[in-house]
Amino acid sequence: MLFDERPKEKREDLFDRDNEILTIKNNIKRPLIVISGVRRIGKTSVLLVALNEIKENFILIDCRKLKENYGRKDLYSLFSQALSSKLSYLRDILERVRGISILGNYVEIKWKGREYLSLSDLLDNLNKKRLIIAIDEAQRLRGPMSNEVKDAIAHAYDYDKNLTFILTGSEVGLLHDLLDIDNENSPLYGRYYFELSLERFSRDLSEEFLRRGFEEFSLKVEDNIIKEIADYFDGIPGWLTFAGNAYLNMRKIEEVKERAISIAKRELEHLIEEKSNVSQITGRRYKNTLRCLARGKNTWSSLLQCLQEEEGSTISSSVFDNIITNLEKLSIIKDYEFLDPIYKEAAKR
Ligand code: ADP
Repeated sequence: MLFDERPKEKREDLFDRDNEILTIKNNIKRPLIVISGVRRIGKTSVLLVALNEIKENFILIDCRKLKENYGRKDLYSLFSQALSSKLSYLRDILERVRGISILGNYVEIKWKGREYLSLSDLLDNLNKKRLIIAIDEAQRLRGPMSNEVKDAIAHAYDYDKNLTFILTGSEVGLLHDLLDIDNENSPLYGRYYFELSLERFSRDLSEEFLRRGFEEFSLKVEDNIIKEIADYFDGIPGWLTFAGNAYLNMRKIEEVKERAISIAKRELEHLIEEKSNVSQITGRRYKNTLRCLARGKNTWSSLLQCLQEEEGSTISSSVFDNIITNLEKLSIIKDYEFLDPIYKEAAKR
């Protein structure tokens, strides 16, 4: 069903994206692939459909579960869960690895003490069979442990020919920062990754998506409503899916929009809260900046002026630049414009 709100896993539920799936298949032997694009653009769905069709074994590590400043225990627990889900394929290898115990169907990786297993050692062992390691929302791996992860990926890149890493990331700037391949001091310095950037649907495709989705519920929706939804949600498949569902339930387009805005508002607040914890710039400043942007202040000077008026104080250009850079790295804005029209509406509230 096109309007199913979970990430799609099968081709018949996925609309369009044939080229993207083919691109992943054609590049699957590379050591490192990155799938990037804004939230809800369909990264997880494209990844899962491709993995399910490729007929190679994979483990999926979902970093959404990782908190900021996660520790080794949290990281290893994510890997444990992923390995546990493929135990039938990996049991013969894992049983022989010092530092791993298998308790029933659960794989436990020792993360401290004498039997402590490093991620690089773990990957060297996994290399005995062909395996794809998919890491969803990988930018969340940033933090105190990120060098251990990058060391392990770099080591696998060089030596573990049976392993392919596929990383997805919604906060594209942060994902590039994590990989940091142009920095001599980064473990991944000089490695190449193949990047697939997912784009939004065209207006025609968005309308077609909505029409087909409603048809699956045997609902004939008027053209002007289809056009209005396609227009408002600007080709982002996740929002179109949400809107299709919400319209089925509420049948009132204004309510659908309001509901989307309140979801976006919560997400934005969460992103700002996490960011202001680490960047030491108050959440209020981020919010005011976003409000000014949403009002159309889309040049450096007009935005700074608006922000200073909102705050009632002078803001240094370095602090201001820092806010803009952070908002860009979070893929909330680019070139002083919102990447997601619903976030823009949410920022006005
Ligand atoms: P991302 O990982 O980029 O945040 P997801 O894959 O989680 O995006 O997709 C967000 C929502 O949009 C999900 O409900 C998913 O089912 C839907 N979706 C995304 N792309 C498509 C597509 N091509 N066809 C049908 N549904 C899609």
